[in-house]
Amino acid sequence: MQQIVDEIAEEMMNLEDKGEVAHYIPQLAKIDPNQFAISVALTNGEIYQAGCAAKLFSIQSISKVFTLTLALGKLGDSIWHRVGREPSGDPFNSIVQLEHEQGKPRNPFINAGAITIADLIMQGHQPKEVLAEIIQFMRYIADDDSIAIDEKVAKSELETGARNASLAYFMSSFGHFENPVEEVLGTYFHHCSIAMNSTQLAKAGLFLANNGVNPITGYTVVSAQRAKRINALMLTCGHYDGSGEFAFRVGLPGKSGVGGGILAVAPGNASIGVWSPGLDAIGNSKLGTKALELLAYKTGWSVFGK
Ligand code: GLU
Repeated sequence: MQQIVDEIAEEMMNLEDKGEVAHYIPQLAKIDPNQFAISVALTNGEIYQAGCAAKLFSIQSISKVFTLTLALGKLGDSIWHRVGREPSGDPFNSIVQLEHEQGKPRNPFINAGAITIADLIMQGHQPKEVLAEIIQFMRYIADDDSIAIDEKVAKSELETGARNASLAYFMSSFGHFENPVEEVLGTYFHHCSIAMNSTQLAKAGLFLANNGVNPITGYTVVSAQRAKRINALMLTCGHYDGSGEFAFRVGLPGKSGVGGGILAVAPGNASIGVWSPGLDAIGNSKLGTKALELLAYKTGWSVFGK
């Protein structure tokens, strides 16, 4: 496995076209695209890494997997009254379907869906309390107390978040929101701004590869059935309107973020964190996708067969 990740890292650094960093969040626009990291956490507890695997990056929409997990833990299947489970086929920040579907987002991984999940997990609490809970949860599942929010990124998102504010106010016009819109947005921007490295990310996702139990710590995070369902949503909706292409090329449940990270899950085998800040036109990490495609090919881990 070490040889495989070393080869992938080398191949990625030699590629000319590394994609474009996310320009619409000023703090992310400053990041050097010539960076790549890969970490593979096996379900037997072994961890393999290559590239700049200790470098922190903004996990952005990957955080939506973890807020969904928290929401399911708090509220169970009742969350599905507020958010659907279908791929949207639209960009991550699209507003078009919301009008037709009366403010109920297609799935928890598009921005509108994740903002709805933020409203659900707040349950009348202050954003600070909810954020403390999210961070505590991240530290627990990754078994790492150093995980924190990058306040500079959160501020940068807040200042340039007109599109997300539009989505939130539009949904609230249907009378769905239980908390003040500004507070829900604050919670959303802050959980998107959690900073992690690829190894922390791989460790945080291990419960999804191991029937809900983190094999390193022994903690049961969710039931096996819930882990399976979260993986299903990652496979069908984890890459926005690029989800079909990701399934075709990589064949693993995965969730991307515009910070350039991707969490991928090879059920029964491994949880994988990759990072490279350059994105493709849809907003998914260009080298991250390529690296996962190679890894799935070399290991035979695709859920669709070897
Ligand atoms: N915080 C980002 C936004 O709302 C998340 C998008 C993403 O990572 O795909 O625009």
